[in-house]
Amino acid sequence: MLRIGLTGGIGSGKTTVANHFSALGIDVIDADVIVHQISQPGEAVFAAIIEAFGNSVLNLDGTLNRKHLGEIVFNDNTARKKLESIIHPEVRRRMLHAITEVKSPYCVLVIPLLIETGFTDMVDRVLVIAADMQQKVQRVQARDEMNEELIKSIMDTQATDGERKKIADDVIENTGSITSLKAKTEELDRLYRQLSSTA
Ligand code: ATP
Repeated sequence: MLRIGLTGGIGSGKTTVANHFSALGIDVIDADVIVHQISQPGEAVFAAIIEAFGNSVLNLDGTLNRKHLGEIVFNDNTARKKLESIIHPEVRRRMLHAITEVKSPYCVLVIPLLIETGFTDMVDRVLVIAADMQQKVQRVQARDEMNEELIKSIMDTQATDGERKKIADDVIENTGSITSLKAKTEELDRLYRQLSSTA
């Protein structure tokens, strides 16, 4: 089973590309979706986060206040590493399990921190989505109303496009329209289907 690791910085277009692979019939396993699942009340990871960061990261309804937690960890490296050490092992376990259930000819693993986590061993081929820094900032601002300072502090904790490209097998430069992004995705889908049929 061919496993494609899809990565890129914040706002690069990973989810847009992943959704298009999915529309083309490909099973997508998204690390961010898993993070969301395991940080729900009742999950062991949720309990470990509250134990580490205290009740101040809870909303009044008892759910995790992701915005507040994000503000804490993207301004404090020790806190971020602590959070990652709680979350990443369980994300990895769930991704490996999800791979065993894939039905499509190949699968796409969306892993924003592919390089930073060393999860590269889970994939056969790396696809990097790249874009200009200013484009990424503008796209995230338009989507989330996040302030530029927080977006840049998140970028500072992530690898750069240059570092990602060093380990990339394929690169999509997402500097044009969404239509052209989808066309580039379809081109790679053809390649991956071909590779998986000859593997
Ligand atoms: P994050 O790391 O924050 O989850 P991401 O890499 O998954 O981001 P997307 O959510 O796919 O990125 O894209 C960020 C925003 O930019 C979305 O609102 C998306 O619709 C928009 N976008 C992506 N590519 C383009 C493009 N080529 N032209 C215009 N808007 C785009």
